[in-house]
Amino acid sequence: MSHFIDQIIEAALQENPGLTVTTRFPPEPNGHLHIGHAKSICLNFGIAEVYGGKCFMRFDDTNPLKESAEYVTAIMTDVRWLGFDWDDRLTHASDYFESLYAWAVELIRNEKAYVCSLDGEEMRISRGSLTEPGSNSPYRDRSTTENLDLFVRMRSGEFPDGAHVLRAKIDMSSPNMNLRDPTLYRIRHQPHQRTDSEWCIYPMYDYTHALSDALEGITHSLCTLEFEDHRPLYDWVLDHTTAPCHPQQIEFSRLELDYTVMSKRLLTQLVNAGAVDGWDDPRMPTLAGMRRRGYPPAAIRDFCNRIGVTKKNQRIEMSVLEQCVRESLEPTTPRALGVLRPIKLIIDNYPAGVFEAFDIPNHPNDPSAGSRKVMFGREIYIDEADFLEDPPRRFFRLSPGREVRLRYAYYVTCVGVDRDSNGEISTIHCTYDPDSRGGGTSDKRKIKGTLHWVSAAHALPAQARLYEPLFYSLNPLEDPNIELTDQLNATSRTVLHNAQLESNLQHAAVGTRVQLERIGYFCVDSDTQQDQLVLNQIVALRDSLPRDKPS
Ligand code: ATP
Ligand code: MG
Repeated sequence: MSHFIDQIIEAALQENPGLTVTTRFPPEPNGHLHIGHAKSICLNFGIAEVYGGKCFMRFDDTNPLKESAEYVTAIMTDVRWLGFDWDDRLTHASDYFESLYAWAVELIRNEKAYVCSLDGEEMRISRGSLTEPGSNSPYRDRSTTENLDLFVRMRSGEFPDGAHVLRAKIDMSSPNMNLRDPTLYRIRHQPHQRTDSEWCIYPMYDYTHALSDALEGITHSLCTLEFEDHRPLYDWVLDHTTAPCHPQQIEFSRLELDYTVMSKRLLTQLVNAGAVDGWDDPRMPTLAGMRRRGYPPAAIRDFCNRIGVTKKNQRIEMSVLEQCVRESLEPTTPRALGVLRPIKLIIDNYPAGVFEAFDIPNHPNDPSAGSRKVMFGREIYIDEADFLEDPPRRFFRLSPGREVRLRYAYYVTCVGVDRDSNGEISTIHCTYDPDSRGGGTSDKRKIKGTLHWVSAAHALPAQARLYEPLFYSLNPLEDPNIELTDQLNATSRTVLHNAQLESNLQHAAVGTRVQLERIGYFCVDSDTQQDQLVLNQIVALRDSLPRDKPS
């Protein structure tokens, strides 16, 4: 789908046909990537692909307090999993620390930067507000010599954290707060995951970002809308240094998804609070969570493509993502029979101890997917939701006296039930019509309901985990007075311990996807043990659950 950034790039190419369109994806390694990042990844790598250009994978690692090598590795795994490759273009802002330092010295020499010794609170007050201009720092007119001396000593570790910062000398009364002498460097005696203890001053984001972009020859620096107000600073940095080129910053809107949050900071809170099992909990909007849940990367790419790229803030319904997942899975995912909430059904006129194997297609619309043998016998499981003793009008599944089709097998008619000591139905009794083998009869009578089933003698017990949105609020950030952890959906995960599956799934490897017919798509979870298969529901077949229309 073509969007406004494509138009900007096409215009640039018209003007300069030899241009190598160059983009970058610049995550900060302070958490795992989420689906919002996927939008940025697809956009940046996608543009490089479409225009025969290049995309850098750059870690924006300027804040050693929150960053770790573990996140770096995880982010690379996630980007590759999504289907993108940076070849030899893996970089880090920290690769450029020496150049950034040299440019800072250049700014000081040109009287465009100064060392400020106000403390944090004084600095905050002197910056003014949206309605009031700021006031100049008493250190603003330090001599170049003094500034250079202090900056060199900041680097050499002479001062404690917070003693001084390096600030750009721009305009304390600018209506744009970002231009009120923003900080370029701060002191932080904190080892860095890559440069270790080489540095104790670290450059700030805006400064670093502009110059890193220029060093890599980025032509189009794409970022989210909240950086629109930072663009004048981005341009100022490039205009006041001898940076090798001047990339164009272009902003687009962030992706927000209903019923979840999309910020590493908040997701970290959920992980730390134990609200989820970790970054790869299948309910998380992280790529690690979606991978574990079984979302195919192609579905996420398709989703990012469908939602498009605009300047309007974007809240997307979860159903849009789920529909992409279904459409991606439908053509290629093999089918299986499985019952999540089993109830036993005995076919009274089917001989005990006799079993037959039905040859069932692996994909109803794709003969090339082949078929498999599924055993059938006198005792089977069906889903308890498929039986009602006293059905409402449009219920076409099983109930006393009613005939239904067991998918790929026989027609059965309910002739009674057994009850346990609490009066609950424990077993359903049916008779079958031997003339209906394979699902049809010579008299071609119409049967409305079709049920899935599993032979009790062959069933493979499994645990099935079903998911709903993590939060009950459409936008958990809407009301700042309600804690995030107070908005968790209590039924975001339902664990069914007694699912029964066809035995062909016995040795299914972790990550295997199947469609359990009539239910949804499932993926074998990494919690699976030798004697316990665990399935995650990737997505249900349809949005709403009850399906009482004739199938
Ligand atoms: P978070 O708040 O989740 O930490 P961030 O923007 O601070 O997000 P970065 O690691 O700095 O995270 O992001 C890397 C890139 O991904 C940036 O270019 C950023 O604009 C983009 N990005 C982050 N979140 C989204 C989102 N929700 N939609 C689109 N792009 C996003
Ligand atoms: Mg960030």
